[in-house]
Amino acid sequence: MPVQTRCQWIQDPPCTKSGQVVCEGCSRKHCAQHHCSHRQELEAKLDELLRNNETVLDQAQAANPKDSALQQIDEYEAQMTAKIRESADNARQKVRRIIEDGKNDVKKELQEIRNGMLEKKQNDDYFENDLKAIENKMNDVQKNAARQQQIKVILQPIQQWDHLIQIEKPVSIRRGRKRFD
Ligand SMILES: [Zn+2]
Ligand SMILES: [Zn+2]
Repeated sequence: MPVQTRCQWIQDPPCTKSGQVVCEGCSRKHCAQHHCSHRQELEAKLDELLRNNETVLDQAQAANPKDSALQQIDEYEAQMTAKIRESADNARQKVRRIIEDGKNDVKKELQEIRNGMLEKKQNDDYFENDLKAIENKMNDVQKNAARQQQIKVILQPIQQWDHLIQIEKPVSIRRGRKRFD
């Protein structure tokens, strides 16, 4: 005779009937009634997994815009744009100041030369060498004025535009895809 096994129902209250039906999943033996209950337990667990499946789907579909990769890219773009704009604004300001200073210098030098000439003219106090000296000074001022225009702009190129923002795809966990039986 086969050894009698008690129903292995683990929930309260304990069952005193003999276990006649074996569950192929967990190998526990149950009485007919508890075999039924055990199947209901498994069904409830499957239903829970089905609900979780929907929850995970909902969560995955409703991507949170905060902290998202897109937001990081937006912020980076804004920061870089702001830095480049700031850098360009500063550079423009420097160029304008240099031009302005150069013009003022030329104006001041010409004014001095002019005052000197007017004074000499008024006093009728000049000779060829004075005129030559004035002419030389004027030439220098003119040359300097032309030189003031030649402002050198050194632009730092960005070497790798393609690598400015790099994106890495997350590695997925992939379990063996067994068929449901
Ligand atoms: Zn079982
Ligand atoms: Zn039982």
